[in-house]
Amino acid sequence: MLKILVTGGAGFIGSHFVRRLLGAGGSARITVLDALTYAGHLGNLSAAALEDGRVTFVQGSLNDRAIIEDLVAGHDTVVHFAAESHVTRSLGDAGSFVQTNVLGTYHLLDAARTHGVDKFVQVSTDEVYGPVRTGTAHEDDPLRPTVPYAASKAAAEMIAMSYFHTYQVPVCVTRSSNIYGPGQHHEKLVPLFITRLLSDRRVTLHGRGEHVRNWLHVEDNCQGIDLVMRTGLPGETYNIGGGTTKTNKDLTAMILAACGAGWDAVEYGPDRQANDIRYAVDWSKAREDLGYQPTWTLQDGLAQTVQWYREHRDRWDTPQPVTVGARAGTEGSGDAC
Ligand code: NAD
Repeated sequence: MLKILVTGGAGFIGSHFVRRLLGAGGSARITVLDALTYAGHLGNLSAAALEDGRVTFVQGSLNDRAIIEDLVAGHDTVVHFAAESHVTRSLGDAGSFVQTNVLGTYHLLDAARTHGVDKFVQVSTDEVYGPVRTGTAHEDDPLRPTVPYAASKAAAEMIAMSYFHTYQVPVCVTRSSNIYGPGQHHEKLVPLFITRLLSDRRVTLHGRGEHVRNWLHVEDNCQGIDLVMRTGLPGETYNIGGGTTKTNKDLTAMILAACGAGWDAVEYGPDRQANDIRYAVDWSKAREDLGYQPTWTLQDGLAQTVQWYREHRDRWDTPQPVTVGARAGTEGSGDAC
C-alpha cells in the first residue's frame, strides 16, 4: 500500500492535492504534515478529508528534525508543498523564508536520504526564473530569482537536485505558474481583490497593472503535480503551466466582472519592489512526457472562485492584522502569487 507524506497539506494547493488523491479512490495512505501557520487552515482539508480513514494529520514543523525523521521513515513518497509563500512578506522578513523554504527542505531531504523513498516531489515555482521579458522559460534555462521568496525556492530546489545527484534521492521538481482557486489565503492577488470587492472596498493595482502572469487553476496544477509524482523521472524538472496569460489589469477586469463591480473600485498605487514584469513557461515537457493537459478556462475558474469566497465569508471577513509586507505595497494591493 502506497504511503504518501504531503507537507503543507492544510495550505491552499496542498489541500487540493490531498482531496485529489482521495477522490481518485484506491488504498493509498496519506499523512499531512503542516505547522498551521497563519497560511494553513484545517478547513482547507474539509471534514470529509479529515475523517477519511486514509488520512492522518500531524501538526508540526519542517524544522523539527525528530518529527521529520519519524514521518519520512514510514512513507514511500514525499510531496513537499510546505513553504512560506507570500512574496510581499519575503520583502520584509527574508529570514523566515530561508528558515522554512531552504532549511526545512534540507531536513526533509536529509531524512529521505537516510530512510529512502521512492519519489520526492519538490514543489517549486516559475518565479525562480526571474523576469521572462520575451518568449517562455524552459526547464534548462538559468535561474535568476529577484525576490527573497523566489531565491529561497531556487535554493531549495537546487539542494533537492544535489540530493539526487549525490545521494540518488529520487527527486522531481515542479515549477508552476501563478495558481488561483478556492481556499487561497486572501493576502494573494486574486482572493484579495475578490474579498475586497465582495465587501464593497476598493482594490489597488501595483504600477499600471502591466505585469504579465499566467493564471492556472489549482486543480490543473494538482493534475500536473500528481502526474509528476506518479510518472515523473527522477532528476527531472517539469514546468506546470498552460493557464491563461493576462496583464494584472486585464485580470482585474475579469475579477470585476465576476464580482459585479466596476472600475470605480480600482485605484493605482506605487509598484512593489522588484516586481518582475513578466513570467511565462514552456510546459511542453509535462504535456509530451506525462500527458499533462489543463482543462479550466480562466473565466470558469474565476466564477467558481468568486462563488467560493461568497459562500465562505467566515474564512476572510474578519479584521486582519497589519502584515510585515504591508510597507511594500498599499492596502488592498495584491501580489500575483
Ligand atoms: P500556502 O501558503 O497556502 O500554504 C503553505 C502551507 O505550508 C501552510 O498550510 C502552512 O501552514 C505550511 N507551512 C508553512 N511553514 C511550515 C513549516 N515550517 N512546517 C510545516 N508546514 C509549514 O501556499 P500555497 O500557495 O499552497 O503553495 C504551496 C507550494 O506551492 C509552495 O511551495 C509554493 O512555493 C508553491 N507554489 C505556489 C504558487 C501559487 O501561486 N500559490 C505557484 C507556484 C508554486
